[in-house]
Amino acid sequence: MRVVVLGAGESGVGAAILARQQQYEVFVSDRGNIQDQYKAELTARGIPYEEGRHTESLILNADEVVKSPGIPDKVELVQKLLQQGIPVISEIEFAARFSQGKLIGITGSNGKTTTSTLSWHILHTAGLNVTLAGNVGRSFAWQTAEDDTEYYVLELSSFQLDGIRQFRPIVAMLLNITPDHLDRYDYKMENYIRSKFRIGMNQQASDHFLYNGDDLNIVHHLDEIDNPAQKININSGRINGTLLELDNRQYDLASTALRGRHNAMNALFAIQLAHLLDIRPDVIQQALESFQPVEHRLERVAVVNGVEYINDSKATNVDAVFYALEAMTQPVVWVVGGQDKGNDYGPLQSLVQDKVKAIVCMGVDNVKIIEAFRHLHLPMVETGSAQEAVERSAALSAPGDIVLLSPACASFDLFKNYLDRGRQFKDAVLALQG
Ligand code: ADP
Repeated sequence: MRVVVLGAGESGVGAAILARQQQYEVFVSDRGNIQDQYKAELTARGIPYEEGRHTESLILNADEVVKSPGIPDKVELVQKLLQQGIPVISEIEFAARFSQGKLIGITGSNGKTTTSTLSWHILHTAGLNVTLAGNVGRSFAWQTAEDDTEYYVLELSSFQLDGIRQFRPIVAMLLNITPDHLDRYDYKMENYIRSKFRIGMNQQASDHFLYNGDDLNIVHHLDEIDNPAQKININSGRINGTLLELDNRQYDLASTALRGRHNAMNALFAIQLAHLLDIRPDVIQQALESFQPVEHRLERVAVVNGVEYINDSKATNVDAVFYALEAMTQPVVWVVGGQDKGNDYGPLQSLVQDKVKAIVCMGVDNVKIIEAFRHLHLPMVETGSAQEAVERSAALSAPGDIVLLSPACASFDLFKNYLDRGRQFKDAVLALQG
């Protein structure tokens, strides 16, 4: 059996290590550069690899290919593999074959990392032997090869779900579906929705499927899919201010770092999982309180001159910004912009009108944002770096205000990625403190 791994990041290298452990013939190919630490891991195990190219003669002879979720199906090499009938799967599918662990799969357009991390944190606090993997944390395959755990909480993107065949989570969560990544789905929302629903396609009657009952994209498709799992409707009817009620038990988010209605929904999903695993309510409440928010998601940076700075660099679409603005209780100087993804700013209009006192555009091309909000007659400035954006925001704000970086756009015009954007923003805020 020859397994070829395309893409040598955390998940690809993990898949190669697992394949080698299973005594398969393995070859790793990455069209870009492979990080030194990963090269060292491959070399140490005698796994052959190439970087900077894909040599077809070494790839098209595979029995199976594990493809990184970052490589679209459209690329010629993948098309050739598919034409030859060679199975192309994701790391998640590959690892699930060998892991003895019970799998919890989490997907959605927004909130995956937060809900996965929170779910992991509750299970971990309760003393379960659990790994956080998928798009976040460790590689599922790597963990399986070296120290298989009893549970896995897996953050799953639609791209990873496109590469599953037999993968079956005992608990699946579908957090929400809003337009994102449509460029990878022929610009058809239906295709994207179908991809998300794949998370439950192998579930059985003893499994659970948790879905957002407020989300019409989900509710309208629920009956179309053939999934015998027990369906549990998670909806905002269970939220009363900071109080959450689930299965006749109450939880309070007041003294937690989980702010905003979206985080209350994320928490409900994680709590429901904990109930299914019979974790005690007092342990759940304690875990909610000790949960640290994930970096770059409504992360409090500092208070400088009475102004609170919040880094929500991961808000790369309009829906995420919607929830960020909704969670704000003081006047907002909103730092927005970057590489546009075909944004429609319509859903933000009334929130911006109610909550925002000034707009600081941070991007190479800000025309779309300026056009979208010009009619509100708010102070609006254009900036071309995080430092400039923070300095202008400081000048536009007064004690009691919030400066919120929640960009609604990708970061690639001015930054390497959203992490780089968030860190530069935070550095600039800390520099204000002097
Ligand atoms: P993902 O992993 O799906 O990208 P994250 O947890 O990293 O999700 O959050 C991404 C962005 O979406 C952040 O700006 C965050 O504040 C926002 N967000 C988190 N949960 C939700 C939700 N349930 N609905 C909408 N937006 C959310």
